[in-house]
Amino acid sequence: MQDCVFCKIVKKEIPAEIVYEDEHVMAFKDIHPAAPVHILLIPKKHISTFFDLTDEDVSIIGRVQLAAARVAKQLNLEEKGFRLVSNCKEDAGQLIFHIHYHLLGGRALQWPPG
Ligand code: 5GP
Ligand code: ZN
Repeated sequence: MQDCVFCKIVKKEIPAEIVYEDEHVMAFKDIHPAAPVHILLIPKKHISTFFDLTDEDVSIIGRVQLAAARVAKQLNLEEKGFRLVSNCKEDAGQLIFHIHYHLLGGRALQWPPG
């Protein structure tokens, strides 16, 4: 996707603080952190929203979630835990239309979110 910021990060056309990368997944620090740990995890494949997922994407989404656990462990969140959330479309406040999960941690988080 030509104008997608996250596709540009995947192609290393714009910089990001990458904390994890494999064939299918990339994880990097959110530019405006909402918690001491705020990482974005994305599939390298451009998928706009959950409504665009197909059967062939099931393993990719599984890999993103597995990567979240790996990154959380790497960042010493194993004991205290973390939150993994994804915003889908307008009411959830999705700003970047390339599926991503926010991994948040490093402090006690409020629930439910606003
Ligand atoms: P959304 O509201 O779509 O779930 O969240 C998008 C997130 O992407 C926001 O938390 C925002 O701070 C982050 N973000 C937007 N543009 C960039 C960027 O160019 N680099 C990085 N690292 N994060 C970004
Ligand atoms: Zn994209």
